[in-house]
Amino acid sequence: MAETRQRSKERPNYETFNPPKRILLGPGPSPVDQQVLTAMAAPVIGHLDPAFLQCMDDIKAMLRYAFDTENGMTLPISGTGSAGMEASIVNLVEPGDEVVACIGGYFGERMHEMAERAGAKTVPVRAEWGKSIDRAQIEDAIRSCKPKVVAIVSAETSTGVWQDLAGLGDLVHSQGALLVVDAVTALGTQPIHVDAMGIDVCFSCSQKGIGAPPGLSPITFSDRAMKAITGRQRKVQSWYLDVTTIQQYWGANRSYHHTAPISMNYALREALRLLCAEGMEPRWRRHELNSRAFVAAVDAMGLEMLVTPKDRLWGVNVVRVPESVDDAGVRSHLLDEASIEISGGLGPFKGRVWRIGLMGAGSTEQNVKLLVGALHKALAAQGFDRGPGLEAAEKVYAAAKAS
Ligand SMILES: *Cc1c(COP(=O)(O)O)cnc(C)c1O
Repeated sequence: MAETRQRSKERPNYETFNPPKRILLGPGPSPVDQQVLTAMAAPVIGHLDPAFLQCMDDIKAMLRYAFDTENGMTLPISGTGSAGMEASIVNLVEPGDEVVACIGGYFGERMHEMAERAGAKTVPVRAEWGKSIDRAQIEDAIRSCKPKVVAIVSAETSTGVWQDLAGLGDLVHSQGALLVVDAVTALGTQPIHVDAMGIDVCFSCSQKGIGAPPGLSPITFSDRAMKAITGRQRKVQSWYLDVTTIQQYWGANRSYHHTAPISMNYALREALRLLCAEGMEPRWRRHELNSRAFVAAVDAMGLEMLVTPKDRLWGVNVVRVPESVDDAGVRSHLLDEASIEISGGLGPFKGRVWRIGLMGAGSTEQNVKLLVGALHKALAAQGFDRGPGLEAAEKVYAAAKAS
């Protein structure tokens, strides 16, 4: 029998964790539909159970619809959005490869950092935070080297900026390179058409536009990308994220790679089922409408959006914090009085902006109205009151219903 030793600490004795009910209107995670939560509570079965294999096939089919792609290699990586980002970089990039990294905010920086860590010679193309990246500068960078990969974020969650990708795929391919697109916040909120846009690797996450809890990262690889991966000189440096071996499990072989997070896949399947029932185009229109109504209220309340109208995201609305107002005070007021979570700024935007997510199941008329009312009160509590915003939002909804 093993020796029993005296423990230095008392035996922990906790109550069951009971999280508060929040309305998640930050940049992620976004609210999770009760149907998705219920799906997660189903019994855990084996990761090679025929029923689970069917669940995996359903997920792949629905992800192809969401990404708008025919790519066979479409699956969820077990990990959050950053795992999908890392998977795209480490599978494509070998030490010494040139990578054009387009950077307009925090997540563009992260992808650049990952490319550097993978040993790439990077050519960064930067935009001022809050602005979209200039196409001519991207072109110059692509022509200035022999890039293997051009990496770009379509929806930069740190700034609320949408990056137009029209024509970029053709340009990248004409230089023999591959286009990697971060669609972590874009997928399910704003138009992404992987095949038509010429995207070679596109990744997202489960917890923003899709409406499941965090934990999975949908990703898709074009045949062109797969050819580059199978033609590598050396093995992918990451064992866990090597898609050629992940495919042994998610593809026809069904051989063990890692134990799939079963319950998370139930959740993703249900969230995707709801997304397919709604349809992508109506879903984008819903996000656009709720964003427009919120922006109308922002204007009416005497606040200012950070981003110029044509570059704005619909899922993440970035509002400037007025000079006289304390950023954290407003956020804690919203949380304490209305149980609404919004988020502050990252990096250079710390204390200067609020990031307000209206994503997935959270993008509703009811949430916009709740938020506008609560935000008006939180601002008034600090002596900032240029008028309520509700009526302006209601006008947008009334006009949409009339048309
Ligand atoms: C959230 C986010 C990520 C990282 O995703 P995690 O799920 O937090 O790992 C990457 N890129 C963008 C644009 C994001 O918004």
